[in-house]
Amino acid sequence: ISELGPLKRVVLKLSGESLAGDGGYGIDPGSLEVSVGQVLEAVEAGAELAIVVGGGNIFRGAQVADELGIESATADYMSMLGTVINALALQAALERRGVPTRVQSAIEIKEVAEPYIRRRAIRHLEKGRVVIFASGTGNPFFTTDTGAALRALEINADALLMAKNRVDGIYDKDPRVHGDARIVRRLDYMELLSRNLAVMDHTAATLCSGEGLPIIVFDILKSGNLRRILQGERVGSLVWR
Ligand code: UDP
Repeated sequence: ISELGPLKRVVLKLSGESLAGDGGYGIDPGSLEVSVGQVLEAVEAGAELAIVVGGGNIFRGAQVADELGIESATADYMSMLGTVINALALQAALERRGVPTRVQSAIEIKEVAEPYIRRRAIRHLEKGRVVIFASGTGNPFFTTDTGAALRALEINADALLMAKNRVDGIYDKDPRVHGDARIVRRLDYMELLSRNLAVMDHTAATLCSGEGLPIIVFDILKSGNLRRILQGERVGSLVWR
């Protein structure tokens, strides 16, 4: 049993990578189905679920800015549009499975998504709709991790759930590179901020720390994980005060 107990309302951060196939680029139907399956289970269990999607599988600002000689801010805006593409793919996949959804974008793009309106997002959740937040924070020089922390605080989520691929929690070094990496099941915010662990960027971590928002890091590829977390089971790693 987790210290947090059962969770009612959560923000799930899905990275662009988790929607991509083996190449790390684009949207892979199989990868999409894995996340959709977990979300379906969570909704059926009665959770209020908001999702923040990343965009690294479509366009990664910092990297491409250098390669193409584009200003950082422009490249970041391009990347944020990538998260809208992911959000629409996720929406379509969820609705195909009968899950009602709404996409809200931090950058106005009103033909395809609602604008982000906090109280409206909360209302959707109360009505059992999965809200997909696109465009991160809407500002360049931020990440979708920060967007996820921000939205989680705004909608009074019980926790921020960071979905990882084939990594089942927080490790002292990258377990996909180092065979002797060890999992850390429980950390406080100071440890997260000081140990430079690859969980989320500093801005996102600082936001969570300031407001005492619990962060759970878990493997989305292991079936049943999301449902178990919502039911209060101890899964993955927990960062809290
Ligand atoms: N981005 C941004 N502001 C935001 C969120 C995202 O400028 O509030 C840009 C930034 O270039 C970032 C990219 O969008 O690198 C994709 O987001 P992120 O790297 O967080 O996606 P993920 O790694 O989760 O796929």
